[in-house]
Amino acid sequence: MDNRDLVARSLAAVWHPCTQMKAHERLPLVPVARGEGAWLEDFDGRRFVDGVSSWWVNLFGHANPAINAALADQLGRLEHAMLAGFTHEPVVALSERLARLAPGRLGHAFYASDGASATEIALKMAFHHWANRGHPEKNRFVHLEGAYHGETVGALSVTDVPVFRDTYVPLLRRNLVTPFPARHAGSKEFQCEACADEAAGALAKLLEAQGDTVAALIVEPLVQGASGMRMYHPRYLALARELCDRHGVLLIADEIMTGFGRTGTMFACEQAGVAPDLLCLSKGITGGYLPLSCVLATDEVYASFYDDSVARGFLHSHSYTGNALACRAALAVLDLFEEGRVIEANRGKAARFDAIAAPLARHPAVREWRRLGMIWAFEVAGAGAGFAARAFEIAMREGALLRPIGDAVYFMPPYVTDEEAFAVLVRAGTAIADELGACA
Ligand SMILES: *Cc1c(COP(=O)(O)O)cnc(C)c1O
Repeated sequence: MDNRDLVARSLAAVWHPCTQMKAHERLPLVPVARGEGAWLEDFDGRRFVDGVSSWWVNLFGHANPAINAALADQLGRLEHAMLAGFTHEPVVALSERLARLAPGRLGHAFYASDGASATEIALKMAFHHWANRGHPEKNRFVHLEGAYHGETVGALSVTDVPVFRDTYVPLLRRNLVTPFPARHAGSKEFQCEACADEAAGALAKLLEAQGDTVAALIVEPLVQGASGMRMYHPRYLALARELCDRHGVLLIADEIMTGFGRTGTMFACEQAGVAPDLLCLSKGITGGYLPLSCVLATDEVYASFYDDSVARGFLHSHSYTGNALACRAALAVLDLFEEGRVIEANRGKAARFDAIAAPLARHPAVREWRRLGMIWAFEVAGAGAGFAARAFEIAMREGALLRPIGDAVYFMPPYVTDEEAFAVLVRAGTAIADELGACA
């Protein structure tokens, strides 16, 4: 197998995600032969740092020995069994541990395979919860400007990222949009407390007027990923929680990206002292090994489905719901968190990485430098059309996998990344700012 052969076969047979395939006439597709820790490698032995944790899923590196061993052991016992009417040890143990770790009383876990499926489940569950309680008119959802909750039809109806949404608008149910907690549209002010108050004021008005028809507010706690690592003040979440309670609206926390330590706490909600009614998890849950997602529900939501009537139950299902291998990978990930005291260790690591990145933060073309937990992001002044694609190529040349969003460049490395590998990301970011930035 070599690079050119694999790329040619891939372009002939594989329809790649999130891609205008014709763009690969110019932009090379990158073959991956193997991975180890924070590094990926092609068939010629060219190595690059996985600076985006393979689309935000990897936590403890590629080919992690502990996760590999857990999966090998699980393979010898049970790979999968249907979860309707049956149960198995990995899914029970994982549900117990997630309930213990999550904020509030989120006592039951419902499983699926991808983030978008978790969003679908949370939306259906929220609506059905109110219908079971005699309020079928509560059938709309509120989401934030710039929200991203996945790309299936239901999830897209609470997503506000034009490139993903616009084409499919005729298919989407109309939901309600509330302002992002920043001073004005397009504002680059991050983590501003007054902006949180202002946005909460707008949410209050919306819920006063239309709360009777709203089943739930769905948010990405503390940072919107897909719309460009837009961070906001935790105060907004606390205010939103109060408003939801006042207006009989459920709060859905989509921690698909932020969960499992990415923002510096196990779950981002903790930083606002808030517990949601429904918590969506995926991505890092298996350390980037296998597709798994879940929705944790409060005991109160769970109770509204518990009845003699079949139709009052939550009859949603996916074939691979609660897959034993995926659950076992997730258990191995939770063990790694505990054994390595990873949340605490990451604090020290992030501070050391900040020091490595300090010169880049002061680069004359760098704007809006920001960090939350293990996410670093900045905008490049003068980033014109085609910036993201050109920046990607510069980064690959420097040995780093980076995928800027619009004019925002970000580093979201696996937690096993060391100083040497992080320095490669900073070098790539600097090359991008040098070559594509305008220094005013
Ligand atoms: C990635 C993501 C999703 C969708 O997850 P998929 O597994 O890609 O379907 C939903 N919400 C957030 C916040 C995400 O980052």
